[in-house]
Amino acid sequence: MKIICIGRNYTAHIEELQNERPVDPVVFIKPDSSVLPKEQDFYIPEFSNDIHYEVEVLVKIKKVGKHIDQKFAANYYDEIGLGIDFTARDLQQALKEKGLPWEKAKGFDGATVIGKWLPKTAFKDLNNINFTLSKNNELVQQGNTSLMLWKIDELIAYVSTFFTLKKGDVLFTGTPAGVGRVKTNDYLSGSLENIEMFQLNIK
Ligand code: ZN
Repeated sequence: MKIICIGRNYTAHIEELQNERPVDPVVFIKPDSSVLPKEQDFYIPEFSNDIHYEVEVLVKIKKVGKHIDQKFAANYYDEIGLGIDFTARDLQQALKEKGLPWEKAKGFDGATVIGKWLPKTAFKDLNNINFTLSKNNELVQQGNTSLMLWKIDELIAYVSTFFTLKKGDVLFTGTPAGVGRVKTNDYLSGSLENIEMFQLNIK
């Protein structure tokens, strides 16, 4: 199983990191070893002093596909989720400055949180889903999928021109503004349309 992530998909987040607005979606992959096992706490790794949460809407791929036409993209997924793309921002910044790959900053063990899944039929419009992340019961990130530069079906079409999508692959669709640091004893919880999708303790 692979985890395909989209970067810079929300204008306000591009601005907060002072990144350039991309011409095409920014795509990277996290290894399956980065998935935090269910019910486990997240341990801040020793190699970073600046681990950031990024809450993102997830899509679970249900069958093999390559060169998927956007108008058939919906046939390739039935479930929508919410997760965190943890990022060692200090490491990522150093790698970015040198033009080097990001994997160490985003693909380390535990860096991928996948919450529970809901059937896509639970949503009236996939391009209008509200989602939030709270830290210590205070709202820190709030997004709506309508604000994505590239919507779910466009992303599936785009990434499948490079990578064959397989059953069980997970697409992370990018984070809205409000990313920030976690510290020991923080408590994170994420919701999709007010349904709690995950809870997480930081150690
Ligand atoms: Zn991300």
